[in-house]
Amino acid sequence: MREPRLQNNHPRRRKSAPSAALLSWVGRNKLEVKSLEVPVTQHCNLRCAACDHGSPLLGKSFLDLDQFAHDLTVLKWAMRTDEFRLVGGEPLQHPQLLSVIEVIRRSAIAKQIVLVTNGTLLHKADQALWRVIDRLWLSIYPGVSLSLSLQEIEDLCHEYNVRFDPRTTNNFRTVLMNNPIDDIDLVRSNYRECKTAHVWKCYTVLNGYFFKCSKSSVMRERLVRLGILHENSPVDGVDLRSRWRLKSRLEAYLESQEPLASCRACLGTSGPLIPHRQLNARALRAESEENHTPLIKHLSEQLREERRLLETAHRTV
Ligand code: SF4
Repeated sequence: MREPRLQNNHPRRRKSAPSAALLSWVGRNKLEVKSLEVPVTQHCNLRCAACDHGSPLLGKSFLDLDQFAHDLTVLKWAMRTDEFRLVGGEPLQHPQLLSVIEVIRRSAIAKQIVLVTNGTLLHKADQALWRVIDRLWLSIYPGVSLSLSLQEIEDLCHEYNVRFDPRTTNNFRTVLMNNPIDDIDLVRSNYRECKTAHVWKCYTVLNGYFFKCSKSSVMRERLVRLGILHENSPVDGVDLRSRWRLKSRLEAYLESQEPLASCRACLGTSGPLIPHRQLNARALRAESEENHTPLIKHLSEQLREERRLLETAHRTV
């Protein structure tokens, strides 16, 4: 059994808690957020170890355009964003990516469109794509080769007036658990300190729901597969089927201090970092079968120890 390695790469826990979203409103009715995301595909052409979107384990799945158009028609009544990010999986795999962008433009919910890509399929992208995006967020992974050089990509961005935003990722954080986290104190602590939900605010729209983090948009499917949730468990997001009380439903959801059901199998941003690597089929199977109970137990003990030290410090003040 692999011992969890935490000493050198575990993020410092904040001593003070909380982090309900500070909501900002446009006028009285629209919530203004920095960004929204849509996973255009759930599958990816890469297999990164510890992918926090769970792509290597999720089946092939393309965004449903009609559903997405309906979601934005409802959401735009209560929300406005600076940028809409097309994420994955790998978004360039969607054969109707231009239509996805058209749906976002038509809704007028966002000022800018950002394509977040691993860049490996950029050489196949339709020329028209360059005219309809505002920023290219290029995730660069060590050892993954691009078919266009960085200079060629930068030149294309320059030619079409697209902001070029290359980001090298050497490490992935261990986020998604294969075993449930039974320690509710740890679940609460991970949720409270979760930068994905409360700082970076990776608000996501998918399949009729608004989610406060990218993980919860795919977690239910993953948890059902792992037997941690059941088919009839409620979804962790805000239902976008109707505009009925949408503003107050979004407000209550985003301000809630209660962890999501998804947090029972997620470390948020409290897990250890591991170096980036690509998985072959065997390593992928090993990752999907890995027993995370020792890591969860280690984090629980660490949390208890931190609290004990904190209490001792308070008593001696
Ligand atoms: S599931 Fe919970 S802990 Fe994980 S990213 Fe979302 S809010 Fe954070």
